[in-house]
Amino acid sequence: MTRTASESFVRVYRAANATEAHLIKGMLEQYGMTVRLFGEGLSSGLGELPAEVVEVEIRVPTGFRQLARQLLDEYEADAAGAAADWRCAGCGEENPAGFEACWNCRGTRGRDRPG
Ligand SMILES: [Zn+2]
Repeated sequence: MTRTASESFVRVYRAANATEAHLIKGMLEQYGMTVRLFGEGLSSGLGELPAEVVEVEIRVPTGFRQLARQLLDEYEADAAGAAADWRCAGCGEENPAGFEACWNCRGTRGRDRPG
């Protein structure tokens, strides 16, 4: 692995596919940060894997890391909220995906992912 960048980039997200990566890249660029995608080019070398299944790393300059994480948290919350119902950690009741707080005990949706 060679390092040619003079600026230090950090990985803030791993997109499931190139389409998602470009969506996120566009979102982050609106906030003035330089966004680099890693992994996209691998698909042509591998030949057998369609681009859709190749994970793409999204990196931003170190100084933008916090802002990027914040935006990506919101992005993930939106994506998850649109996709699935959630279970309240406080009382165990199921809540519809669109609910930000538990209908039963008003507990907020907990975050339960590593990292
Ligand atoms: Zn609850």
